[in-house]
Amino acid sequence: MHLLEKMGMVKRFNFGDGAARFELMHEGDNGHHHHLVCTKCSEVVEIEECIPEKIEERIAVKNGFKSVTHKLEFFGICPDCQR
Ligand SMILES: [Zn+2]
Ligand SMILES: [Zn+2]
Ligand SMILES: [Zn+2]
Repeated sequence: MHLLEKMGMVKRFNFGDGAARFELMHEGDNGHHHHLVCTKCSEVVEIEECIPEKIEERIAVKNGFKSVTHKLEFFGICPDCQR
């Protein structure tokens, strides 16, 4: 898996519980999206919405950074686990 990761074909996600998950990059996009993770069954839902770039811009300017990006994961309980 590490070789694939180096080649940029998979993306590694580290969650707070120390578990790492991998997913294949979607072809033709930069892979930027967000995850909604069920804390009970670890199901991952792809979230296409992104926080406004203005926030990144503001953070970049404030701290003198360039090329600011972000990772964002949401956690909750999926419909199956609510039963
Ligand atoms: Zn669940
Ligand atoms: Zn994803
Ligand atoms: Zn985003």
